[in-house]
Amino acid sequence: MAIRKVVRIGNATLRKKSKPVVAYDEELGTLLDDMKATMLERKGVGISAVQVGVLRRAIVIQLDDDQFLEVVNPEILKTRGKVLASEGCLSVPGFYCDVERPKYVKIRAFDRNGEAFEFEAKDYIARCVCHEIDHLNGVLFVDLTEEGKNYKALNGVE
Ligand code: ZN
Repeated sequence: MAIRKVVRIGNATLRKKSKPVVAYDEELGTLLDDMKATMLERKGVGISAVQVGVLRRAIVIQLDDDQFLEVVNPEILKTRGKVLASEGCLSVPGFYCDVERPKYVKIRAFDRNGEAFEFEAKDYIARCVCHEIDHLNGVLFVDLTEEGKNYKALNGVE
């Protein structure tokens, strides 16, 4: 596993829409392994491929101390409720703000072998899932609140 460079806000790559993964091959496995290593090294709890500069719809989320969820080509099936809580991002170091997210989310996705699965999450993990799926669509959490918009304006980043 290799640690890759994390793309930061201001880099146009983060604003691009990621393309679906088409090949469930060794390259995908290496990408997911490297994403996990990079996330752990940076003490993150979730990471999307675009954050290591790869515009593919792949995500890794830490569920527990030693449990990780790999999510490829996710699709949100259902959301429910709303929760306001603090959020940060490896691509926006040092900035945190409260963001409203669904309390519950259900997704359909694929694992690294191309096996489809459904996953339900609530509260903190639901927040991570929604945050990371936003990344795949070029959306950052700082786009979603006034504080985040102020942060972008103050720092002159998009
Ligand atoms: Zn993020």
